Amino acid sequence: EEKKALNFIEHIVEEDLEAGFPKKHLRFRFPPEPNGYLHVGHASSICLNFGLGLRYSAPVNLRFDDTNPVKEEKEFVDAIKKDVSWLGFEWENECYASDYFQQLYDWAVQLIKEGKAYVDSQTSEDMALQKGTPTEPGTNSPYRNRNIEENLELFAGMKEGKYPEGSHVLRAKIDMAASNMLMRDPIMYRILHKAHHRTNTDWCIYPMYDWTHGESDYIEQVSHSLCTLEFAPHRELYDWFLDQVVDKNKIRPKQREFARRNLSHTVVSKRKLLQLVEQNVVKGWDDPRMPTISGMRRRGYTPEAIRNFADTIGIAKRENLIDVSLLEFHVREDLNKKAPRVMAVLNPVKVVITNYDKENTEWLKTENNPEDESAGFREIPFTREIYIEKEDFREEANRKFFRLKLGGEVRLKSGYIIKAETCTKDAQGNITEIQCTYDPKSKSGSGTEESLRKVKGTLHWVSVPHAVAAEVRVYDRLFTDESPDTHKDKEFMDFVNPDSLKIITAQVEPSLSSAKVEEHFQFQRLGYFNIDPDSTAEKLVFNRTVPLRDSWAK
Ligand code: ATP
Ligand code: MG
Ligand code: MG
Repeated sequence: EEKKALNFIEHIVEEDLEAGFPKKHLRFRFPPEPNGYLHVGHASSICLNFGLGLRYSAPVNLRFDDTNPVKEEKEFVDAIKKDVSWLGFEWENECYASDYFQQLYDWAVQLIKEGKAYVDSQTSEDMALQKGTPTEPGTNSPYRNRNIEENLELFAGMKEGKYPEGSHVLRAKIDMAASNMLMRDPIMYRILHKAHHRTNTDWCIYPMYDWTHGESDYIEQVSHSLCTLEFAPHRELYDWFLDQVVDKNKIRPKQREFARRNLSHTVVSKRKLLQLVEQNVVKGWDDPRMPTISGMRRRGYTPEAIRNFADTIGIAKRENLIDVSLLEFHVREDLNKKAPRVMAVLNPVKVVITNYDKENTEWLKTENNPEDESAGFREIPFTREIYIEKEDFREEANRKFFRLKLGGEVRLKSGYIIKAETCTKDAQGNITEIQCTYDPKSKSGSGTEESLRKVKGTLHWVSVPHAVAAEVRVYDRLFTDESPDTHKDKEFMDFVNPDSLKIITAQVEPSLSSAKVEEHFQFQRLGYFNIDPDSTAEKLVFNRTVPLRDSWAK
């Protein structure tokens, strides 16, 4: 870790420290708006901010940017806290921009008194017309020179609820000819007669993002306020607002920007994810196909895998698209170490071993995880009738088919070598049963010459009388296009993959009947699977977290 090159944000912090900024004053924050669930893009921002906290032993606040009561809810606050904790991070303080409403109001009054803010009573349409263009200056509002007394009275009236929504706004008096359009008298407050999930009906004016964010950073004494690139043009305004309130003896926060992370075959925008939820394209924010942290958790992704992924992609100065297969690589790599191996047959066909005793059940010893010595061994039942995968058998096949074919041999994992003799078909020609013989001396681990005999293929299998039927949810990409929300002529919704969920009934080994929610397994030769919360004592439900190999690789 120490040897890893610093990212450009860490370089900025290092330069500040070299220039004399005291290390003990470093402080960071992660500032989600509670208007949806966190997604994989947020995971990058969380890893960046909390990663800085760990690197410099500095506190990191979790700050809810809750200034828009129309879209924000307690449900989202709770989900965000759960997700950040689950990723493995601890915040110093749980903060809310809404806790600063009074302070922000007092500062706004101060700005009015200093002639730096005014109440504008035009319609939003008129104000928009006066904004000008990037090459032409805007036009001053007819209310721009309202006297201070009148402004104070109107602003107090706005706060007291005397006026309807849209009738007045408070604007900063900066410069309608500024080359940065955001500096053309930006709105600081609007009237919203809406209850807030924390302040209830205490307020009916709400501060805008630009007015709130920097001042909140200042109140919390955040040293480095990291945000995504679209806020780069806001930095000038962030600094202007700070200039109005900063005390020279206190820490002045510094905004710096990094590129948003985009993941292929999905969308990372709460607004778009909400659309998927509301239009029932998915079953909820935590649907395992969603790129939300809660969806990834339900899918069986681990916090370590997500953190390793975020660390690997690092942060960038320019936006680009990260292929989701890189995330899946990290999921496999982590689960390979952790997930016990079990046997499950997803698409079963019955095999009858004709020379094996009908009454017999043999318990075969098998390793739980070859990647983890401490994982130990378990016993699995073997009987005359077993299930194997349909696709592991062909009546005829060429020499490259290392699975079972008539007249050919395979080893059953942790068991015997069997040879396919005949098979039975239904009227449609589907194979319904395969008759095999086994070599009684070939048992794995028995030390006999036959047990060491090399056959090309090894198959997973499950004993028919012991098998437990389980629902398995097999997921595919949610979108067929790698960048569904970047097309000029089409909506991202046009690219929803109609086959992103397939539900099948698998036959799994009996040890799995006691598996618990979120437990991870490797189904031998198939992939990683976990127990879904929909699972009950009567019916096991698994999610396919990720197949073993990247079938998408070319
Ligand atoms: P969305 O459009 O999904 O709502 P947002 O930026 O409005 O995203 P916030 O809740 O404001 O969402 O985000 C909290 C923090 O996470 C911000 O600092 C934001 O810049 C960062 N963030 C959001 N999306 C990404 C992303 N795709 N990649 C990296 N950081 C992100
Ligand atoms: Mg935001
Ligand atoms: Mg947003």
